[in-house]
Amino acid sequence: MDAQEIKTSGAPAWAASARILSATCEDMDRLADVRNRFGATVVLLYGVGQTSNGWCPRASYERIGQFIARAHDNDLKVVCYFDTTLAEEEFFKDAHCEWAQRDEAGQPIHYQPTHIRQHRYAFCFNSPWSEYVQRAAARYAELGADGVFLDNPDYYTFGGKKSCFCSYCQERFKKETGADIFQVPEGARVKWLGKCLGEHIGRVREAMTRAAPARPVVVTANVCGDGPIRSMRVLGPYLNVLFREAGGAGPHLRKRLERDRDEGSGKPLWVVLTMEWRSPAETARVLAEQIEDVLAVGACPMVWATLPSWDPKRPGFSEISIYSEPLLAGVVERFFSPRTGAGEGSRDAAASQEPSDSAVWAKVAEAHTVMWRDYIDPHTFQIYTYLDPQTLRPRLPSYADVAACKPSTGGWDTALENCALDGGSYLGGLLDRFAVTSKPEHAEEARKIYQGLKLIADAADRKGCIPRGVMPDAKTHYPESSVDQYTKYVYGLSRYFRSPVVTEAEKAEIRTIFEAVLKRLEADRFVILSDTGAPIRFGDLDALRPSRAERLLAIVLAGADVTADSHWREVYLQLREPRLKHCRGRGGEPWVLVQNQLAFYVLRHLETDPDIRKVYEAGSLEAAEACAPHLRLCAVSTGERDFVATAMNRLESALTLALTENREFIVPHLGAIKRVLVTYDYTRSIRGRHLFVNGVRPVECIAWSLARQGLLKPE
Ligand SMILES: [Zn+2]
Repeated sequence: MDAQEIKTSGAPAWAASARILSATCEDMDRLADVRNRFGATVVLLYGVGQTSNGWCPRASYERIGQFIARAHDNDLKVVCYFDTTLAEEEFFKDAHCEWAQRDEAGQPIHYQPTHIRQHRYAFCFNSPWSEYVQRAAARYAELGADGVFLDNPDYYTFGGKKSCFCSYCQERFKKETGADIFQVPEGARVKWLGKCLGEHIGRVREAMTRAAPARPVVVTANVCGDGPIRSMRVLGPYLNVLFREAGGAGPHLRKRLERDRDEGSGKPLWVVLTMEWRSPAETARVLAEQIEDVLAVGACPMVWATLPSWDPKRPGFSEISIYSEPLLAGVVERFFSPRTGAGEGSRDAAASQEPSDSAVWAKVAEAHTVMWRDYIDPHTFQIYTYLDPQTLRPRLPSYADVAACKPSTGGWDTALENCALDGGSYLGGLLDRFAVTSKPEHAEEARKIYQGLKLIADAADRKGCIPRGVMPDAKTHYPESSVDQYTKYVYGLSRYFRSPVVTEAEKAEIRTIFEAVLKRLEADRFVILSDTGAPIRFGDLDALRPSRAERLLAIVLAGADVTADSHWREVYLQLREPRLKHCRGRGGEPWVLVQNQLAFYVLRHLETDPDIRKVYEAGSLEAAEACAPHLRLCAVSTGERDFVATAMNRLESALTLALTENREFIVPHLGAIKRVLVTYDYTRSIRGRHLFVNGVRPVECIAWSLARQGLLKPE
């Protein structure tokens, strides 16, 4: 097959309107989402059955075959990744060393990339390496792949001449031109090598066609530069789908793609967008611009569903993905979905139906029943974290276990994991409830939760420590606490102190608690230590970053308010100076951001300087903006990972929005918040194998906050 034939032979029709997401075999269970939620039509599968370049994850051919079958079941095409040039060190060490590209002195071409641990060797397309790549591509075709994506097509050079002088090239050059490859000008060699690389791509395509003759396949390669070989002008004619790796956005990107499109004589153009990780909002903004540019020139965008890792200790992919970052997910949904702009899809119609307020209140009543029947201890008023799914009783450790710090110093996975945290957060909700209803029984329930919180402080051995929770004996507890426990605890107590529910005697108690907590923190240099004085895992309250800065300030300012001691006001001002710029609505998923929000709530209500308050308001809105995309509905799942992604993050997102107390911001999301509230079965909020209070506790807090703001009509 010569270049002309390839140039005129068409790509499969689906390639022209492809919306491409990257995937690994790990994403197999997400393929329905990839198609239906995100609107992708093609996945680019990163998983090589043989010979990695040190970056692309390995996968067995069996698993690749399963992935392809599953993708096809979901109406997705699969294009498989293979590095057509580079292989990791290990591959060079065996008999393949003769296949390497060579410099003029006969040295193999290799380099050490910054993002992987190994040296990479470049192999020559005139050597048996070409057959090796063809066999890999044919294997993909046999497994049902709809195409191959050849990465890094190039003759590499690192400082010297951009030529290959390997024995295969020497021989073939002589045969084809009659000349000695060492004797001709550089330009002539480079031109010849470009043709050799193109012909290699042609052979890969023939091999795939032989392996699956009935199915037209995409054969594409990553053109990222304008070098003498790796350019659209040189390689484009050998591809049936053009592929450009591109960064940036705006006129520069469009011009670049328009030129590709013109040079490619009407072939489909796929564009992988280089995604630089900044903040979720910033990365999403740039991605949206890039996709717009790609679509504007009639090209097909490819988005990294999971961002590649640049950490050599962790080659492959990072933790950041459209599955964990809702802002990125939102961009993909917006631009990939064929329904974009139409607004008539069934999903949109369903989404526009807003649940009635009475439907919401029915779920709030359900959550309230579950809280007081199952999670709240009737004597200590601790809010227990986990229930045993069989007995529906709190998953309490034995007293001996607590004494022996089993299963851990923090009592994770036991009923005592988050009592302080949940009590503080829930108390805020009960205070909003009382503010709406003024019913004495509602004040009494708030008082009980306050008593549970007081008990926690009283139980500490080291005065001023806030343990996570106490056993039914009202004393026994694990030693380890956390920034999160303190944050929510202080939020609840601070609000209670300023509420109409509090008595003068309780005010005095709260003053005592805050005095002790602040003195303890000051003595420990604003690092939270355990109740035995030991460093703990999540104790870095002093850190200068979001999720720490605003929390420390909230704790100290709340203490200054409660104690009316000017010393704490001074300390607050000193701590504020270096922290103000870190007071952001950032630092994690919604279950983290909601805690930033509780801190901002305290700060917004207590800070008297309007300019400083503006900073807190901005942080509060930033957290809410980051949470808003999470409100999208999702099926209830019993898997732990999915629990966080579905119920927990959605509920905490709704609470984060409600607590902005910014009507203008909340109103457009009100329908989505109500849908979240009516979606879940609060009798079955499961994490792993256990019932988990986090899937229940935010419900009342959200509803009563909205009701207090007049956004939900109480019954
Ligand atoms: Zn060579």
